[in-house]
Amino acid sequence: DRAHALLHLRCDPAVLYDNHTSRRGDAIVDMTAVVTGAARGIGRDVVTRLRAAGYRVVAVDVSPLVAELAEDGWVVPMTADVSADATAGAAIELAVAEFGRLDVLVNNAGRFLRRPILDTTDEDFDALFAINVRPVFRFSRAALPHLIGTRGCIVNTASISGLIGVANQSVYAMTKGAIVQLTRQLAIECAALGVRVNAVAPGAVDTGFMAEARAADPDPAASLAVTLANHPIGRMSAPDEVARAIVFLAAPESAGITGTILSVDGGYVAR
Ligand code: NAD
Repeated sequence: DRAHALLHLRCDPAVLYDNHTSRRGDAIVDMTAVVTGAARGIGRDVVTRLRAAGYRVVAVDVSPLVAELAEDGWVVPMTADVSADATAGAAIELAVAEFGRLDVLVNNAGRFLRRPILDTTDEDFDALFAINVRPVFRFSRAALPHLIGTRGCIVNTASISGLIGVANQSVYAMTKGAIVQLTRQLAIECAALGVRVNAVAPGAVDTGFMAEARAADPDPAASLAVTLANHPIGRMSAPDEVARAIVFLAAPESAGITGTILSVDGGYVAR
């Protein structure tokens, strides 16, 4: 009923493009975000940037390090595995219970797997989809009723591996391709409800994620050289560069952008 009641708003551009002001006219400082994978790397920088913009944040991560974020009184940390059945619903309810509303969902938690397909097991496949894909679906579904109410948005962290072929990443690339496609699907499905859905597609980003992948490599120095050579700017992105793109897509300035996959890849895909 709530969704139907809001459907008529699609005819009113003034409301449609006023994506980040609630119907009560709340200022930006009243806005609330849920960020997954928030303990380190890109997600941590997203929390920092959202806080600088005045958002209140529920920060979800399987790592207990996420508790450090509680030093900022407007960040509520939640130590939980996004792949557990109850996590998505609990995180969204926590945001609404703590802050009264939900404006932004950032589905960022993810794990990497670089492995030739002949060495990749069914368990590898299931485990990666359980962490990288199903939570994006579940968090989005749980958040949507609240995002409709605030005319909010979703930003997903995909990867260039979801856009182009990359050697020895078949299952990881499939998970990121699924996120790309869910982003487009939800953007279409939710546009008339005033909810925008976008994604970033990072190339190599200088986080623990990449460092751990390189450490597992037989020749980490050679692996790093190949990575850098693949990026025309000659370096990995900093996590904050990706965080800025995520916060841009979440912000009112992006009210006309939905269904977009924004590469933050130093020219990798262009190349
Ligand atoms: P990171 O490893 O530094 O951070 C990822 C965070 O997600 C960690 O804090 C980790 O504890 C958390 N996490 C992992 N599994 C989880 C689970 N089951 N439940 C809850 N939290 C979980 O990595 P990052 O580089 O910041 O990666 C963030 C996102 O960016 C991921 O989705 C990743 O696929 C994507 N990405 C990263 C790169 C890169 O080169 N680093 C490139 C493209 C895309």
